[in-house]
Amino acid sequence: KDLDKGLEKTKTNIFGKLSRAVAGKSTVDVEVLDELEQILISSDVGLETTIKIIERIEARIARDKYINTKELNSILRDEIVQLLAENNTQDLEDFFPPTDKKPYIILVVGVNGVGKTTTIGKLAYQFKKAGKKVVLGAGDTFRAAAVDQLGIWAERVGCDFYSKGMNTDPAAVAYETVQYAMNNDCDVAIIDTAGRLHTKLNLMKELTKIKNSIDKKLPEAPHDVMLVLDATTGQNAIEQATKFTEATDVKSLALTKLDGTAKGGVAIGISDQFKIPIKYIGVGEGIEQLQVFNKRAFVDSLFK
Ligand code: GDP
Repeated sequence: KDLDKGLEKTKTNIFGKLSRAVAGKSTVDVEVLDELEQILISSDVGLETTIKIIERIEARIARDKYINTKELNSILRDEIVQLLAENNTQDLEDFFPPTDKKPYIILVVGVNGVGKTTTIGKLAYQFKKAGKKVVLGAGDTFRAAAVDQLGIWAERVGCDFYSKGMNTDPAAVAYETVQYAMNNDCDVAIIDTAGRLHTKLNLMKELTKIKNSIDKKLPEAPHDVMLVLDATTGQNAIEQATKFTEATDVKSLALTKLDGTAKGGVAIGISDQFKIPIKYIGVGEGIEQLQVFNKRAFVDSLFK
């Protein structure tokens, strides 16, 4: 239900326009395809991904001779699911990923304001609900508010919290959070980082240092490096993804605030462009309004 509501604006945007584009037409012609291209671009699917989708539909028209406008929706839906499937090969079934790693270490990266703290809090809540012992590590040591906010979330969720306060070395906080998790039988540690987008080289150095210190304490960790992006920021989100993927080995995405945008198509574009699976989506401010990303459910909800 949250997902349907969260995607409402995007749905109205895409399909309102699409139904106007095909009004009075029986087959999908060049005009409809041009219109579809504009619609997808305007919902932030991204140029490259849009072109890919259009080309696939053209290929089907070439194969089947023509496409009835009534079939366009279901064809579009199939193509988007297929596109998402290329990167999201295995959608999570539950919030906690299947893993034999204990403690499982998640390093969370992303710029300020995208909903990083909220997403960490919501995740901790779900992990706790699934019976996991959780610790949050306050690795964003540049903002006092970041440390405080994370502490508040830990209290709200009822999970452990590791902090050395602000202006401390984030790599040391990360290392000690892992140590804390190992010493206290935690199933999972979620480590926050500062969202400063300075130069690419600085970002790279900072994240590398944090990753190395985690790995020194626990080989092969962090097991996940999750980039949080704000779906309402469109091209900015793409720019951020470019910078972070160049700076570090981003393994998964969390896309927040899908409820606040008519351009939820950005989920499709980003996953395709960066070849990174989307793990979680934020569909509201509430503690329960984080969902495991499921490509089929996402697309179904869009086309409902
Ligand atoms: P941070 O600076 O990246 O840590 O961002 P915060 O976690 O403090 O979030 C910034 C704002 O975005 C807060 O007001 C959150 O309540 C809001 N927010 C986070 N996720 C979502 C979401 O999925 N939907 C909506 N509508 N708001 C969200």
